[in-house]
Amino acid sequence: MFARRSIQNPWDGKIEPFRIIGNVYFVGTYQASSHLIDTGDGLILIDSGYAKTLYLVIRSIYKLGFRPEDLRYIVLTHHHWDHVEATRQLVDLSGAKTLIGEKDAEPARGYFDPDILLKDGDTLTLGNTTMRFVETPGHTRGTLSLFFDTQEGDATYRVGMFGGAGMYTLVKERFDYEGCREDYRKSIHRLQEEHVDVFIGNHVWNNDTENKGKLLLETGKNTFIDETLWPTFLDFCEKRLDELIEQDA
Ligand SMILES: [Zn+2]
Repeated sequence: MFARRSIQNPWDGKIEPFRIIGNVYFVGTYQASSHLIDTGDGLILIDSGYAKTLYLVIRSIYKLGFRPEDLRYIVLTHHHWDHVEATRQLVDLSGAKTLIGEKDAEPARGYFDPDILLKDGDTLTLGNTTMRFVETPGHTRGTLSLFFDTQEGDATYRVGMFGGAGMYTLVKERFDYEGCREDYRKSIHRLQEEHVDVFIGNHVWNNDTENKGKLLLETGKNTFIDETLWPTFLDFCEKRLDELIEQDA
């Protein structure tokens, strides 16, 4: 679980797009996750990914029968380049408004001009979807996690994403800021209070997006729907933090 493989070329990370559940689609790559929400009144994209893999994201959007021109909002979970680098290109293509945590806005400006700065508890409503944002600092100061409901048949599922789970900036030499480890732990505890039926990954290794997607496309079996995945992943994150702290001691 939570394993990763290394990628050489942009095209090596190509993943066939698929519908995860309800109005939620995966359009990202192995290198960087991007999720598309079809709200019935335009599209929301969560994270744009690297510029070099943008052609794959655009291919995926078209392949699912949507048009990148119909993007209305692009939500950026945090300011790191693997999440935001292709944002300006997509804004030029679509006129979409960009949203990012207010504490990540400054470092993001190198990549795009943030239109809407999000604070804890803010929401975004478009068409049939209302997204709720929770500040979960640690990985970066302004990392946002997000939650929304989606319908499939008669059922409603709570979808959730931890917007910055990686340990990269929690290693001493690469601290994003002083106190980031303490914040990261608090953020995990806060996220543990949320119920999530469908955990979507901020990177594919978070929730084994690639294999779950393949299984779904090939057999129709949907292993994304599993309320145990969210708490299991959060426990894993906290354990990794403990290990990191132990190594420094
Ligand atoms: Zn990051």
